[in-house]
Amino acid sequence: MKFRFLGTAAAEGFPAIFCRCTACEKARKIRGKNVRTRSQALINNDFLLDFPGDTYWHAIQNRLYLDEIKYVFFTHSHMDHCTCIDLRMRGKPFAHDCKEPLVSLYGNAAVKEKYETVYAGMFGNALEQFHFEEIQPFTPISVGEYEVVALPARHAPSEKAFVYVIQYKDKCIFYCLDTGWVFDETFAYMQEKGYRFDMIALDCTSVDKPSADTAGHMNLQQCARVAEKLRENGNVNENTKIFVTHFSHNGNPIHSRLQKLCKTYGFIPAYDGMEVEI
Ligand SMILES: [Zn+2]
Ligand SMILES: [Zn+2]
Ligand SMILES: [Zn+2]
Repeated sequence: MKFRFLGTAAAEGFPAIFCRCTACEKARKIRGKNVRTRSQALINNDFLLDFPGDTYWHAIQNRLYLDEIKYVFFTHSHMDHCTCIDLRMRGKPFAHDCKEPLVSLYGNAAVKEKYETVYAGMFGNALEQFHFEEIQPFTPISVGEYEVVALPARHAPSEKAFVYVIQYKDKCIFYCLDTGWVFDETFAYMQEKGYRFDMIALDCTSVDKPSADTAGHMNLQQCARVAEKLRENGNVNENTKIFVTHFSHNGNPIHSRLQKLCKTYGFIPAYDGMEVEI
C-alpha cells in the first residue's frame, strides 16, 4: 500500500494566503518542505482523501493522473477539504479519454450538498461519471479492494465530520483529521474491532501552541495522548508509523522545527508530497 501526503496545511495554507507573520515570511523565503498546501492524501493511485482547491496543483507537483482516481472519501465539507468545483472538468470538452469511467464519492450530508451544487453545473458526458453516496459513521463499506469505515470526529459540530479507518489487503491505517480530542465512542469502536494500525495520521493543527480537549483540532501533546490511548487499546504498537499533519501557520510549522519537536514523541512530521510505503 502506497500512501502519499499531498497537502499538509490547515485551511489558510503555509505560508498563509494573506499573512505576513514571521513564520509565513520564513516559509516564503526558504520554501521547499515549508510550503504546505491544503489537506489531501492519496492511497495507491486510485483513492483520494478529500478534494481541496489545491488538488490541481497536487496533481502537477506529484505527476498524478487524476483520471485514474476511482474513490474520493471526504472527511467534512470545510473548504480546505471539499472544494470540488474542479470535478466539472472531468467531461468533454475539458477532458478526453479518461481512464476510469466512474468516480465514486463518499461523504456526509454537508459534503453531499456541496457536491450537488457542483453536479448541477455539469453537462454532457460528465453527468455519467460520478456516483455520490452519503455515508454514516460505524458502517463499514467495501470499495474495490478497500474496506473503509467512517467514525465521528470532534470537528465542525454543525455536520457529522469523519475520521477514517481504511484497510487494504493486510494493511490498516487511521486517518485522523480534522478532529480535536478523539471521541470515546471512536476509540471504543477501534478497540472492539481490534485494528492493528500500520500507520496513523493525526491532526496537529496547533503544533506546540495550547489546545483544549474541547477544541476542533489538536496539538502535539494531544496527538501523543491519542497515540498512547491507541497503544493501551492495542491498536498501535512499536511498528506503527505515526505521522502528524494539517499544520496551521500559527504553530510555526517550519519543517526543521517540526522535526525537532516530533523527535520527543517519536512522530514523523508530514510534508507535501511525502510518500510512505506501508
Ligand atoms: Zn482542515
Ligand atoms: Zn502567518
Ligand atoms: Zn475543518
